[in-house]
Amino acid sequence: MNTRISIDHISQQLLQHVRFLGETVGSRPIGTPANHRAEQYITQQFEQWGFAIRRQPFACPHWIWKSGRLMRGSERACAFTPNPFTRGCDVEAPLVPIGNMADLEAVDISGQIVLLYGDLARERYTPRAFTLFRHERHHRILQLLESRQPAAVLLVNPQVGRDKALPLMGDWLFPVPSATVTPEVALKLVHAHGPIQLQMDTSIRPFESANILARYQPRGTHSTSTSSPARVAVSAHFDTHFGAPGVIDNATGVAVLLVLAEMAAHGDLGTEWTRPIDFIAFNGEEYAALGDQVYLQSQPDFDNIIAAVNLDGVGLALGNTTITTMGCSTALDEAIHQATSPHAALQWVEPWYESNHTTFLMQGVPAIALSSRGVQGLADSPDDTMDWLSVPRTVGALDVLRTVLEPLRQLDPQRSRQRDS
Ligand SMILES: [Zn+2]
Repeated sequence: MNTRISIDHISQQLLQHVRFLGETVGSRPIGTPANHRAEQYITQQFEQWGFAIRRQPFACPHWIWKSGRLMRGSERACAFTPNPFTRGCDVEAPLVPIGNMADLEAVDISGQIVLLYGDLARERYTPRAFTLFRHERHHRILQLLESRQPAAVLLVNPQVGRDKALPLMGDWLFPVPSATVTPEVALKLVHAHGPIQLQMDTSIRPFESANILARYQPRGTHSTSTSSPARVAVSAHFDTHFGAPGVIDNATGVAVLLVLAEMAAHGDLGTEWTRPIDFIAFNGEEYAALGDQVYLQSQPDFDNIIAAVNLDGVGLALGNTTITTMGCSTALDEAIHQATSPHAALQWVEPWYESNHTTFLMQGVPAIALSSRGVQGLADSPDDTMDWLSVPRTVGALDVLRTVLEPLRQLDPQRSRQRDS
């Protein structure tokens, strides 16, 4: 990498950021003090480089899990995972296993503990508070469940071989107490005779979390009277799922964003770089994209954003850095391909939409997403630890990001966008 700041310093900074977020703070879902600590850390970094910072707060629930147990018969405790934001309960009821929509519509589940498997538990449910996209099937199932008033819902995560299931739901608008179990536990429950007991002690109260926006204004250029000059957006979310340390998802992305900001502050994007950059540390990406929603509501004049580059999941030890572009003009697409061609190990992948770049894309802003591919099931899980971190690959992702910025140096917003016909 051709920089004024030494590679050693860059590696050190990346490692420090990842370690603080992924190890010192660890799991940092919205509505928690840990999330707030991560927010403060990121804010301090931007502050020390003299950026104009804006905190973008949003209301979210502060959910606390106290204790609970799931029993088959009187003495056999089973492992389970409370779904984040679930309400508490203390119920004893027969188990009703249901594996498809037709049965869910036909069977009386009122006052029972429903075990949803198969077609009704094949992926994580989209929370109803996620207003950017409505998943019709999920919506219909949740509505049906709510109207039938079961005592509780147990979801069977289809992944076998885990000690504890990863939750398939995280929805504070769903009023039925719910938890997730592994297929192994579900099998025991189905074979058990007699009622099942589920007890969960939780509390929920209002809280506030926030995005952090920081604008870099290149030295020698003026922040004109307009608050929305032609500019580039670089984003990464810093929140995690409950119980996930979130090293690869997404402490590394935030670390790359912070080091790019540091380089920009030191004039290390080159004298020719005269564009403002909006650095956006998104929050709440993992639950209902609350940070994206509040960012949208602030109407940041998307027309003047040349392109948005998002980092989510870079720096994976057993993986390759991936890139994809969405909504770019042919000229920009070609320029990015050309600019990144020296990165022989960079893997081009099909467009994907499960992160913050989609918020820009939906507003017509060209979106470029950097991630990595190599292992499955790491994101959201307690296994997403420092073990998976590769500092050289994280440095590599930063290098790719700098390369991607190159074609955006002089391009106008009108010329970066995909045009119909
Ligand atoms: Zn992520």
